[in-house]
Amino acid sequence: MIASVKTIDPALRTSSRSFEERGLRDFLGRPLCDLRISVIDRCNFRCHYCMPQEYSKRYTFLKETEWLSFDEIVRLAHLFAALGVSKIRLTGGEPLLRPRLPELIKELKRIPGIKDLAMTTNGSLVSEYAKALKEAGLDRITISLDTLDAALFRRMSGGNGRLEDVLEGIRRAEEADFDCIKINVVLQKSGNDHQILDLVRYFKGGKSILRFIEYMDVGNCNRWNIKDVVPSAEVVKTIHEHFPIKPAKSNYFGEVASRYQFLDGSGEVGFIPSVTQPFCRTCTRARLSTDGRMYMCLFSAEGVNLRAALRGGASDKNLLAIIQKTWQDRADRYSEQRAQLGTPSQFLPKVEMFQIGG
Ligand code: SAM
Ligand code: SF4
Ligand code: SF4
Repeated sequence: MIASVKTIDPALRTSSRSFEERGLRDFLGRPLCDLRISVIDRCNFRCHYCMPQEYSKRYTFLKETEWLSFDEIVRLAHLFAALGVSKIRLTGGEPLLRPRLPELIKELKRIPGIKDLAMTTNGSLVSEYAKALKEAGLDRITISLDTLDAALFRRMSGGNGRLEDVLEGIRRAEEADFDCIKINVVLQKSGNDHQILDLVRYFKGGKSILRFIEYMDVGNCNRWNIKDVVPSAEVVKTIHEHFPIKPAKSNYFGEVASRYQFLDGSGEVGFIPSVTQPFCRTCTRARLSTDGRMYMCLFSAEGVNLRAALRGGASDKNLLAIIQKTWQDRADRYSEQRAQLGTPSQFLPKVEMFQIGG
């Protein structure tokens, strides 16, 4: 049973003022608009670019008592909303491995000011949960799918995933009628980049929107090398040669995907050029790890420990002050600085992707 909605300071509960009114900006003038919540660090896949099998054998996953409880997540989400957050995305690890997730979604949906509730998942369990997630109030779902080749899919997921489960999950999500379904494809040179056109052919004209993401140097366990990145500009060119596309306007400030429309009117496709064309200037996202640390950037080494404050008895006012100060001090722009850092990316301490969820 989640009780936090009742325990929130009433003055905060009614607050849904936007960041323009509250004026909360970070050191570089960026507003706080989005919160990504990692609900679990465990996963049933072992994707090489995120949580390689050999690394996961050495890694100590969090104990359940270390996870933020649903009460704690909801309490923090209220506070973030009071500071201007209007969008929440649940992620992981694999978020659908967190028991009773629809209950959390129901509570998050009731928070004043939260206009958009989304989730990123590897899709393996979506066919089981799609209906319950939609009924609980999830607005949008993003499903990760890097290839339509079943053998390659199995290899890329570390021998754990089955392509047909994810395709069935996508079908069920489409039936459940989410506001928007996106399909995330992380491309790696000489890995799955030969799959670009097959993926476009499969999803073009359908209900789900394909988005190609550049492989990023998040964390260190994936042994990232810039040579493995497929620049979005190349992907645009490849697609355009076979299925002509033209740039479309972005939907909102801070949208990370460059949107393109198919000239034949059969929908759109997106590109997230995080490495070759960084978008730090419009980065409006805070991230909360499963153990309650607030991260200001995907490439941070450390997060601010909100769980310690929560469990130490901090009042809403105290927590709000910590979150506010952390955001105001934020000057992160790693992707813009990557080339000038001097230290090769793999030697910099960084949180792992599966700990904060992308
Ligand atoms: N397990 C869920 C999933 O795979 O969708 C949610 C967590 S996963 C960390 C979130 C997103 O990050 C996925 O779309 C995944 O493909 C992407 N991702 C993971 N590692 C990445 C990397 N090194 N570069 C770019 N995207 C990455
Ligand atoms: Fe798991 Fe998602 Fe990371 Fe793959 S990308 S290992 S599915 S958390
Ligand atoms: Fe945001 Fe950090 Fe990515 Fe820049 S590098 S867009 S600041 S998460």
